[in-house]
Amino acid sequence: MAEASATAGQQAAPAPRKKVSRAEYVIDYNEEVNPDVNVIRFIPTNSQMFEFEAGQFVSIAAVKPDGKRIARDYSIFSPPSYRDGFELCVKRVEGGFMSNYLCDLKKGDKINAIGPMGGFILRRPLPQELFFVSTGTGVAPFRAMLDTLLVKEGNTETHVYLVFGSRHPEDIIYRSHFEEMEKKYSNFHYFPTLSRAGDDWTGHRGHVQETLTKYLSDPEKKGVYICGLQIMVDQVKDLAVSKGVLPDNVYYERYD
Ligand SMILES: Cc1cc2nc3c(=O)[nH]c(=O)nc-3n(C[C@H](O)[C@H](O)[C@H](O)COP(=O)(O)OP(=O)(O)OC[C@H]3O[C@@H](n4cnc5c(N)ncnc54)[C@H](O)[C@@H]3O)c2cc1C
Repeated sequence: MAEASATAGQQAAPAPRKKVSRAEYVIDYNEEVNPDVNVIRFIPTNSQMFEFEAGQFVSIAAVKPDGKRIARDYSIFSPPSYRDGFELCVKRVEGGFMSNYLCDLKKGDKINAIGPMGGFILRRPLPQELFFVSTGTGVAPFRAMLDTLLVKEGNTETHVYLVFGSRHPEDIIYRSHFEEMEKKYSNFHYFPTLSRAGDDWTGHRGHVQETLTKYLSDPEKKGVYICGLQIMVDQVKDLAVSKGVLPDNVYYERYD
């Protein structure tokens, strides 16, 4: 994980006390959800599924063709209430080993994973409004958090805004899932934001920073959670604080 920067906001705070396990998992499902991104489901072969908090990640190890063993971290995409195993949402990175290795796994293949890890979790008490800001597979921990808040806990008090940035409509990860949730939960607001949309796009345009800026009135009542690549995370973090969100209410996880 990258180092926390010296600017405002909190990177993964102290990890919650969930037992960390190293176990073997078999691939139950590996599906492309858009041209670069797969959702992969892992089922433990000999152990019980570990307990975790929405927002935590696992570390996956594999051996490269040159014999070198590497490990990479992946946010858990499925909610903790799913007890059969866990899902990841993985983007193929050009020239990268692990991301392509995972996306190429077939049903029945086996891998080892260690988890859960990390402290990028919902901090209680919740503020009146929560903003989840992500690009690409940075949406993974937010899918788990949204499910926990809205479905499992039945929270109707906290307004939750998912601001998701990508270039084109076909890059939007799990769009129909979040659209369905928005129809079902009146306190959930879904703002996919496209930087290269065609004329037919009626939603938000530009970058996630622009969408967030439109909704930052009463900043002291808001919590901002950010996940994705460093450049976006740092910009959104600084923007939120400059608009008046309390630094203690800004949390982030960086993927690089
Ligand atoms: C806590 C944590 C959670 C993470 N969760 C996820 C996740 O849920 N899904 C996911 O796809 N990745 C996630 N990552 C990134 C992941 O760990 C790997 O870095 C990524 O899959 C690239 O690994 P690689 O071996 O293929 O390529 P490498 O050779 O290790 O990486 C090449 C470069 O790819 C860039 N990169 C890393 N991640 C991404 C990305 N998602 N999109 C575009 N470029 C990237 C980095 O700049 C890196 O330097 C997470 C990282 C951390 C630290």
